[in-house]
Amino acid sequence: MIIDWDAHHGNGTQDIFWADPDVLFFDIHRASPFYPGTGSLEEVGVGLGDGAIINVPLPADTGDAAYLKAFHEILVPAAEWFRPDLILVSAGFDPHSHDLALNVSYDGFAAMTGILQGLARRQCGGRLVFVLEGGYNLISLSRGVRSVLKVLAGDEPPEPGLRGLAEVEAAAAFHRSAFVAEEDTPSTPTDAGPDGPSGTP
Ligand SMILES: [Zn+2]
Repeated sequence: MIIDWDAHHGNGTQDIFWADPDVLFFDIHRASPFYPGTGSLEEVGVGLGDGAIINVPLPADTGDAAYLKAFHEILVPAAEWFRPDLILVSAGFDPHSHDLALNVSYDGFAAMTGILQGLARRQCGGRLVFVLEGGYNLISLSRGVRSVLKVLAGDEPPEPGLRGLAEVEAAAAFHRSAFVAEEDTPSTPTDAGPDGPSGTP
């Protein structure tokens, strides 16, 4: 099975396996009229290969949440039905927000990698191969590759959108008392410790 998360539709890969029932092709990409203009929902293969092509065209600015929803709700069930011997990934990093007007983050690439890693372990003995595709912004290309490699090397995939929340909670707790008006502050005995006033029965 081949997964193509590059921003462009993989029209060449689709052509090669258009009538092939032995290769499931899942392609998530920015929709037409974005180049190359192919990859509509209705392009599902032909003949014996009918149904072995899955296209998920998306509007500009689509981000992590939609990508991960497509992985969980379309890709994973399709793969579990298909039972691949090997998972190949056309790993393009142009869906990053620095690149071609999609909005996938580094944590998003890492989370997609984690899903594919789990799928490969369950379905085909962990056989998972990434092939580098697009990526025009060299910063987001290199950092995107690194985020994938970290997960493949054993890092726990992050939950996109949550980075920094723990720090904000800690900072809020740190600053909270500074902005409480004097009269709102409950009067506390001077000998109050963290467990309340000492000597309380
Ligand atoms: Zn591309």
